[in-house]
Parts: sequence; structure tokens; C-alpha cells
Amino acid sequence: MTVNIAANRETMGFQTEVKQLLQLMIHSLYSNREIFLRELVSNASDACDKLRFEALHNDTLFENDADLHIRVSYDKEARTLTISDNGIGMNRDEVISNLGTIAKSGTREFFSRLSGDQQKDANLIGQFGVGFYSSFIVADKVVVTTRRAGEKADQGVRWESDGGGEFSIEMLESTPRGTAITLHLRADQDDLLSGHKIRSIIHKYSDHIVQPIMMKKEEWKEGGQVITDEDETVNQASALWARSKNEISEDEYKAFYKHVGHDYEDPLAWTHARVEGHQEYTQLLYIPAHAPFDMYDRNVRHGIKLYVRRVFIMDDAEQLLPTYLRFVRGIVDSSDLPLNVSREILQESKDIEAIRAGCTKKILGLLEDLAANDKEKYAKFWEEFGLVLKEGTAEDYANKEKIAALLRFASTHADTNESTVSLPDYAARMKDGQDKIYYITAETFNAAKNSPHLEVFRKKGIEVLLLSDRVDEWVVSSLTEFAGKQLVSVAKGGLDLGKLEDEAEKQEQEKLASNHKDLIGKIKNSLAERVKDVRVTHRLTDSPACLVADEHDMGGNLARMLKAAGQKAPATKPILEINPNHPVVMRLKEEEKHFDDWAAVLFDQALLAEGGQLDDPAGFVKRVNQLMLEMRAG
Ligand code: ADP
Repeated sequence: MTVNIAANRETMGFQTEVKQLLQLMIHSLYSNREIFLRELVSNASDACDKLRFEALHNDTLFENDADLHIRVSYDKEARTLTISDNGIGMNRDEVISNLGTIAKSGTREFFSRLSGDQQKDANLIGQFGVGFYSSFIVADKVVVTTRRAGEKADQGVRWESDGGGEFSIEMLESTPRGTAITLHLRADQDDLLSGHKIRSIIHKYSDHIVQPIMMKKEEWKEGGQVITDEDETVNQASALWARSKNEISEDEYKAFYKHVGHDYEDPLAWTHARVEGHQEYTQLLYIPAHAPFDMYDRNVRHGIKLYVRRVFIMDDAEQLLPTYLRFVRGIVDSSDLPLNVSREILQESKDIEAIRAGCTKKILGLLEDLAANDKEKYAKFWEEFGLVLKEGTAEDYANKEKIAALLRFASTHADTNESTVSLPDYAARMKDGQDKIYYITAETFNAAKNSPHLEVFRKKGIEVLLLSDRVDEWVVSSLTEFAGKQLVSVAKGGLDLGKLEDEAEKQEQEKLASNHKDLIGKIKNSLAERVKDVRVTHRLTDSPACLVADEHDMGGNLARMLKAAGQKAPATKPILEINPNHPVVMRLKEEEKHFDDWAAVLFDQALLAEGGQLDDPAGFVKRVNQLMLEMRAG
């Protein structure tokens, strides 16, 4: 909706989400109000980076002023604070979309997760990113004037809003290049009108910003502090990553992360190194403390920032890390790549491959270090990013064994839904005579934990990994062994327990099988349409029957997942294994009249127990009812 006020001034409504975000921000982040300055300075710095990059191809954009900087000033009388830059600026359309809407992916999810609890919501907003709109935490009116580099002087734009539902926009004459944001402070924000206060906030949050942040020098004169005409730089104004590690404090690393990661919380861990040799580059890579809203959005570019000899080249250079490490934030600064490198070039470059391999190694090393030395942090990492890291077993052949050792699973060892067991843990606990790693996949943790397939393993005290994430099926299809030990599904094939079964048990098995030849034959006949084979089990102790997939057939869980996803699964039939010691099976042996019904129920309940869906649920119900009536009669 647009309302014309004057020839050149229009009022427009904010996107609904922006209104909601503004409301929330002002209330939830009030106790953290100083961050507005970090956000505005961060945007100003990005704007300078963008101009420097665009000017690589067209240096007229500099308009003879290549000395990029940020300026912070205040006016006690007008009660305003102004943050300005001579970076890329914005044209009218950009102002309307950047400062009137939220274009971020994950927006819907963000709003759906808000709870109304101020503390929780404050954290969520932090994770989502606060950005420009955080100005309204301290200001009740914000005025932006801006002109995009390369546009004529009369193409300036003025944006103004009180943070309610609307903003106004008008074209300006003779506007300098870049952006100036003037905050009209709220009544209780006068403490921000102090050079000392502003400098201390800049030191705290923005010291690492590469461009100089300029302020007017102040002097003590009789009567108090006076602002002079002389400029001074109030931040370090050097690339943090180019400094040597021992000169950088933890706080500086954290502050820099918030700028590059567009994050509000501290990172979980980081690694900073200068690599020399064939390719020379510096990497400063961070693992965030929480997953971003859009981690599973395939349309979003994920990645780190690429610099070439300190010049910003691009955001989200996804070629610098494999997809399964897409949660990593940070920068790579190459000494060798050409300044005009493009995404297309990155895709094919051998040099980039070397950098990617180096960054991958660093991150996996950092994770190994956390896993070994800071279990609590690693558990936190796993909770946030475990599912993504799992993709690596299929994606990164060269590092498969390393990634495998970093995975964490639930298992029958603890029987809880927490993924804390690693493959090396498992291997170290293997029983005498055990040479395989056993797992079960199911749709939910409970289905896995209570599966009949585990009965013999529980009886013998053999640990089984309980896999119930969708991605686990892909993990086990690419990760078929670890440290020389085969990974084996307990629901597949003949289940050769090898040395875990003694001679007496094996003989007992054979005896049972030959004693039940007739029964097996009858069931096979009865269920011929639905089973590939029927045999006596040695997996079960308490249940009457279970289904297993033949050695080279697709497992039931994966087949069901594919079907649910609308994909074709090969039409294979399962093998029905029966437990001849079970009273139900013993009873079946004597049955004549209803044999087919009983056999069908045996099959259907085995299918239900592994989380499958019945072809004919009504038929199943009918048969069970019939059985119950017979029970009364008998
Ligand atoms: P974010 O920085 O996370 O994208 P913001 O709400 O802070 O979100 O800013 C939205 C957009 O507005 C930015 O992506 C940028 O395109 C534009 N913008 C903000 N500040 C400036 C500035 N000082 N100069 C140029 N563009 C800016």
C-alpha cells in the first residue's frame, strides 16, 4: 500500500514480519542494547567491502575517493548518533527491500518458534540475526540517507521511520556516496551521547573491523569535554586474521566471529592458521554454538568469506568447504588467487581444491580435539550439527575414517536416546570373539530400542547401535566398516554370530530347525505371496517371530523411508523367522482349521513390531478378533 504525501515522498508499510521483529527486538533485547552499534558498524564495513570488490572491475565507482572508512559522531543538542560510511550505498529499490522486508530464509521457521517468553525469544532473535532493525532498541526515529556508488548525485534516497508500522522514502539531491544512519535516541538513552561511552562500545565489539572507524577528537577544556575538528581512528583497523595468534585475545576472536558469522552468540570453537607452501593462505574458521535456521534449506548458499590479499571477494564461498561442513563460518584469505576470481573459476580451480582440503583437515582436527579434550562442548556440537556431519561419511571418501570416529550414536549400552557412543568406544567394548559392529535402523528410537531383533544380543550382552535418524540409512550404506570391522545390520541376512555362539548352541539350532521342518513348510505355503523364505530364528528369545531382509536386499526401514518420500523401492519380500520355543508358535503347530489366519497374524505382528505398515489392517483386526473369541470358547 502506498500513500503519496508530497510529490516526492511516499509512505510505505513494513512487511508484517518486520513489524513483529521490531516489537520483539525492542522488548527482548533491551538489556543488550549496545549491540545496535556493532550491527550498524558491521553493515557499514560490509558496504565498504562490497564497494572495494565492485571497484576491482570498475574503479570509477570510487569517484576519486578510495579511502574507505566508517564514521561515528554524536550531537548532544539534537540527541542524535550518526553512523556513516562511504561504501557501496543503496538505490531506492534496495532501500525499500533491505530496510522494509526480511528476505532471509528461515524467516517462517523463526516466527513459528517464538514462544512469548522474553528470555527464550531474545536468544532466538539473536540466532536469527538482528541487523539494522536493532537501531530501534535505542532510537525512536531513524533516518537513513544513502546513495549507491556509480549513481548520479541527485539519486540519493532518504528513509525515515519511527519503528511503528511504516516508513517514508524520498529522493534527495546532492547526497554523498555511501550510507549515513542517524538515530534519534529514546528519552532514556542519553548516556550514549558521550565520546567516552561510544569509544568503549566500539572497543568492545568492533575493534577488529578492517576499515578505520573515525571519530572527532575530544579535549578537556574548562567546563568539560569539547569536540575538536581533528579526526582520529578509534579501532585497530587491521585485518584480525593477519595478526599473529598470540596478539589476539579470546574476546577479539569472539567479536570478530559475530561480525563474520552474523551471529549474536559466542562461537563454540575456532581455528586460526597461516598455511605456507604451494598455496599460501590464512584461515580463521569458527564452529558456531547453534545451528542457523536455514541449515537444511538447499536453496541457501552456505560458506565462508573469501579474501584475496585482504580484499574481500565474496560471501558464502561454498567451494572452500565440503557441503557437510556448511555450518562453519569464517574467512580464508589467499595470497595467490587472482583478485578477479569468480564463483565459476572457484568451481574449477585446483588451487581451491587444495584450500578446501586444508580447511576440511583443520575443522576435522578441531572436532577431534574437542571430542578428546572437551566432551561437554563436543556433545553440544553433536546436538547442533551431528546430522550434518553424518552426511560426510557419504560425501568425503578421503576423510571417511576420521569422520566415522567423530560420529556419535545411541546404543544398547546405555539404552537412552542420547547419542554418546562413538565407534572407537564400541570397538573397545566388543566381546571376546566379536568381530563385527552391530546396528539396527528404525524410524524412531523406541522402535529401534524395543525391536525383537535385539533379543539375542541383549541376552548375550552384545552391544548394538540404535540408529533412528533418517540420514543413518545413508551412513550405513556408505560406511560399511570401521577400523577393519564390518558394520552389520541385526535385521539382515543369516546373522552369523561366529564365535559368539558356542558349539552347543549351534547344535541346538540345527536340532530345532530339523524338528520344525513340517511347520516351516506349512507356513511357507500359507504365506507364499508375502515371504521370500521362512526359517527358525536364533535372534529371538521373547517374541514369536520377526522379519529380516535377505543379505543383499534392501532393509525394511530404508524401503519404508523411500516409499514415504515418494520414491520407488525395489519390490523385495522379507524372510519370516519364527521362534519355535514361543508358546504361540507351539500352539500354531497344533492348529488345523485356522492355520492360515494364525500364520497371517504372525507375519503381520512381526511387520508391526519393526514399524511397518500393514497391507490390509482391517483383515488383521478381523483375524485378531476371531482369535480372541476362540480364546473365550476354548
Ligand atoms: P543483514 O546485514 O544481516 O543482511 P540487515 O537488516 O542488517 O541484515 O541489513 C539488511 C541489508 O541492508 C543488508 O544486507 C545490506 O544489503 C543493506 N545495508 C544495511 N546497512 C547498509 C549500509 N551501511 N550500506 C549499504 N547497505 C546496507
